[in-house]
Formats: sequence, C-alpha cells, structure tokens
Amino acid sequence: MAALTDRDVLAALHTVIDNERGGSIVSLDMVKGVTLRGGNVGFMIEVDAARGPYMEPLRKAAEDAVMRLPGVTSVSAVLTAERAAAAPEPQKGSDVTMARRQAATGQAPAAKPFVPGVKHIVAVASGKGGVGKSTVAVNLALGLVAEGKRVGLLDADIYGPSVPRMMGIKGKPTPTDDKRLNPMQAYGLKCMSMGFLVPEDSPMIWRGPMVIGALEQLLRDVAWGELDVLIVDMPPGTGDAQLTMAQRVPLAGAVIVSTPQDIALLDARKGINMFKKVEVPLLGIVENMSTFVCPNCNHESHIFGHGGAKAEAEKIGVECLGEIPLHITIRETSDAGTPITATQPDSPQAKAYRKIAARLWEKLDGTTRKAPRIVIS
Ligand code: ADP
Repeated sequence: MAALTDRDVLAALHTVIDNERGGSIVSLDMVKGVTLRGGNVGFMIEVDAARGPYMEPLRKAAEDAVMRLPGVTSVSAVLTAERAAAAPEPQKGSDVTMARRQAATGQAPAAKPFVPGVKHIVAVASGKGGVGKSTVAVNLALGLVAEGKRVGLLDADIYGPSVPRMMGIKGKPTPTDDKRLNPMQAYGLKCMSMGFLVPEDSPMIWRGPMVIGALEQLLRDVAWGELDVLIVDMPPGTGDAQLTMAQRVPLAGAVIVSTPQDIALLDARKGINMFKKVEVPLLGIVENMSTFVCPNCNHESHIFGHGGAKAEAEKIGVECLGEIPLHITIRETSDAGTPITATQPDSPQAKAYRKIAARLWEKLDGTTRKAPRIVIS
C-alpha cells in the first residue's frame, strides 16, 4: 500500500461541503496545516469566528472523510478562526477567545469530549514550568494504583512530554479494531502521551487550537477502559491553551503543584485563578521540594522556606494535600524511568505521594459535582 500523502487527505476533504458558503472546504481554502505522522492525521479548518459555535458537524464530517482513507489510524480536525482573530473583540474571536468569553459570561462551553468508563478526570497543573508537576502527576497516579484504584495518566504537556521517560516506557501504542489507540502500560498504570506518537527529537510547533485538538483526541480516541481516575498532566502555565483545556475537559477537579518560593506561589495563584474562572473545583495544592533531605545523613533543611504553599493555600481556602521533600532519589528514579512510588514503596518519599493520593481519592469519592451532561447527536 502506497504511503499516505497530503494529497490523499486533501482529496478526501474535497468531498466535504460547506453548505453555507456553497463549496468544498478545500476549494474554499479552509483547510490548513495538514500534518501526517504515520497513520495519524491532523489539520485545521479555518472558519469565520462568528460561525464557530455551529461548525461542529462540518468538523466531524471532515474527520470522518479522512478516517475512511486506507492506512489512517486517527484523525484530529480542529476549528480555528485565525484570520478573524485579528479583528477587534468582542464581535469576533478565536476558538480560545470564544472559550474565554464563555467563561466570563458563564455560557455553556462547547460540548466536552465524552470519556466513557472514566469516573473522575483530575488535572495536575502549575503556574510555571520546572516545579515538578510531571513528577507529581506520575507519582500521584502510581499512589492511586497503590491504593487499589484503576488509573490512567494522560500526558497533556505536549510541549515537553515527559511521561514516557519518567515511566520508562518505549515503543508505540497499538491500534484497536475500532481505530482507537491502546494506552501503554507500566507499573499497573495506563499511560498515553504525545511522546509515544512522535519521535523525541522531532520539533513540534503547536498552535493553541492544535494543542486543544490533540488533547481532545487523546481523551476521546484512546481505549482507556474502565478507570476510577484519569490524571491529566497539564502543560505548565496559564495561557489561552491551558484555559481552554481546563474548560473543554470534563474535569472533576484540579491539583496545583507549587514550590514554596514566593515567586512560585504567585504563579500558583495564577493557576488557581484559571481553574476558578472556568469553575473547576480546586482539590488542593501540593507543595513540592518542600524540605531538602540530605541523602547522606537524612538531615532536613528548609531551603525555600518550607510551609509557604500551605500558608498560601489556607489563606485562599484551598486544601494543602501534602508536601513532597526535595530528595535526590526522586530525581534519579524519575530520570531512570523507575518512579519511586512504584519501585521503592516503603521509602518516606513514596509514602508522601501515597498519602496525597489517598486524600485525593477521599475527596473525589465524596465529590458531589454532577457528571457533565452528555449530548449524543
Ligand atoms: P515540571 O513538570 O513542573 O516541568 P518536572 O516534574 O519535569 O517539572 O521536574 C523537574 C525536575 O525536577 C526533574 O528533573 C525532576 O526529576 C525533578 N524533581 C521534581 N520533583 C522533585 C523532588 N521532590 N525532589 C527532587 N527532584 C525533583
């Protein structure tokens, strides 16, 4: 079978008609940025922002048309309003500004992707990079596994996917019969990451709408099976992409990771505000690198002024779920792909992650937040 090319994709998209404008989406020059990675196809459909809210059927038709091509294993079509975004608000806006406006007006967000069989989806986020968010996401997920839960980990940090390395997973996910992807597995945890789908050294340039499309696809098109919790390792920061993600994913709540430094706390506060804006419950803060534990003598020093995150959390009425020490074994096991919570379960560090996991589960299980309304059209 000949390899799939952009031309095949465009030929398939030629059959998709924009009824309102009276033509094929290809001849109307609405298809942008076709990307092919093996059988995984991505592209954007540029639409006038004002039409954005009711273009979902067209987007779906485009995805279906490409999905029918031989050799295609997954398709992600994303609506964008790039050209219109240059026009002044509020009349026009991009996908992201629409999401923002909805958040501001309390209007119902666009239909959230439905993840059947998954009881609770929890975002692990941080206001900035390098605070140990991914390390917490991995070990928290493994802590939940240790608690006997069925757990998945979705690496949505597609700017720097670190889950494959931290979990020591190599290889590519296999497709299911219904053209979805099987998650990868290690230490009893199901994992999916963009890092499994694209080579580590290939530069990825993501634009906001592509990021959101990729995340939605990883939620929707992965055969997660029955899960008690799906942990989502969010990209760091509080930009438009993160805000839209926080709104589009049917989250049970969010956990914010922060170091004790003041500056990080200011960033953490931004993270908290982002979830508040989109009415996602804050399950708590994790203070990472809380105390330094000397690997030789086990002496504890409070390099960054330990307890800052806890004090801050209390001030704003968010629970501090726990503190994780700064310990070389955490870094070493992360780098080696042998996460401490799974490989050294009796260490004090693993116990600290497990304690946070247990408290998180307690909060989730008692949660009264209703499941998102699911509309099947
Ligand atoms: P982020 O996801 O916030 O960018 P990472 O989880 O990738 O951060 O962590 C950044 C670095 O810090 C990694 O090398 C990781 O191993 C290390 N690290 C994270 N938490 C700890 C900790 N508690 N003790 C020691 N090293 C840590």
